[in-house]
Amino acid sequence: MAWRCSGSSNAELIGNMKNAHIINSDRVASAMAAVDRANYVPRRIDAYEDSPQTIGHGATISAPHMHAYAAEHLLPYLRPGARVLDVGSGSGYLSAVFYHLVGPTGTVVGIEHIPQLVDWSVNNLENDGLGKAMEEAKIVMMKGDGREGWAEGGPYDAIHVGAASPEVPSSLLEQLASPGRIFIPVGTAMQYIEHVDKDKNGKVTKDKVMGVSYVPLTDRDLQTGIPIN
Ligand code: SAH
Repeated sequence: MAWRCSGSSNAELIGNMKNAHIINSDRVASAMAAVDRANYVPRRIDAYEDSPQTIGHGATISAPHMHAYAAEHLLPYLRPGARVLDVGSGSGYLSAVFYHLVGPTGTVVGIEHIPQLVDWSVNNLENDGLGKAMEEAKIVMMKGDGREGWAEGGPYDAIHVGAASPEVPSSLLEQLASPGRIFIPVGTAMQYIEHVDKDKNGKVTKDKVMGVSYVPLTDRDLQTGIPIN
């Protein structure tokens, strides 16, 4: 079902994900409607296909249904004014959706370790009308190792990890607010989305929510095959 949501326009793609009960909230539907996926893909002709698309450097923009799941699963923590960390921000698409959910009083920090993708995501966000949000540092796209997070910008109410990690990186857990939630694919051959929840007293619980297949959260040279000096 998840793969059958393709549309001929952004609106149709989102409508199909609503019909398939992948998008269940009006808030996620409006945030995704405000972000045109065509601005975040190299092959615009396939922009509204419900499938991942290569963005070079060993990376992909995730399929729309995975972006929708991520937004739905983090939704309780994406209230207006919230702080969000998007690890492995790639195309910038999901950072844009998060921005529309937390609004101008919130902050979204995207971290990506491929410098060309950071530059490309900034371009994509500008083309999608979010240049002012970046100028005002409501959206911050930075180059770095996402496994370390970015402590200065935290604590974060919601952390999205867009690549699969063998375990939950301890820095991300430290930078998670109380309460807060991490949405992260965990595993190598077999991967599961986990919710890592910190309650208001700091108690951490983990919950496996679905099986998935993501590119790995890894070292830059391992991902691209190019040694880094
Ligand atoms: N969510 C993004 C990208 C998903 S692909 C989108 O949908 O467009 C996963 C991304 O994680 C890739 O862009 C990859 O370069 C990045 N990545 C992998 N390991 C990383 C690391 N250690 N630190 C930061 N980014 C990483």
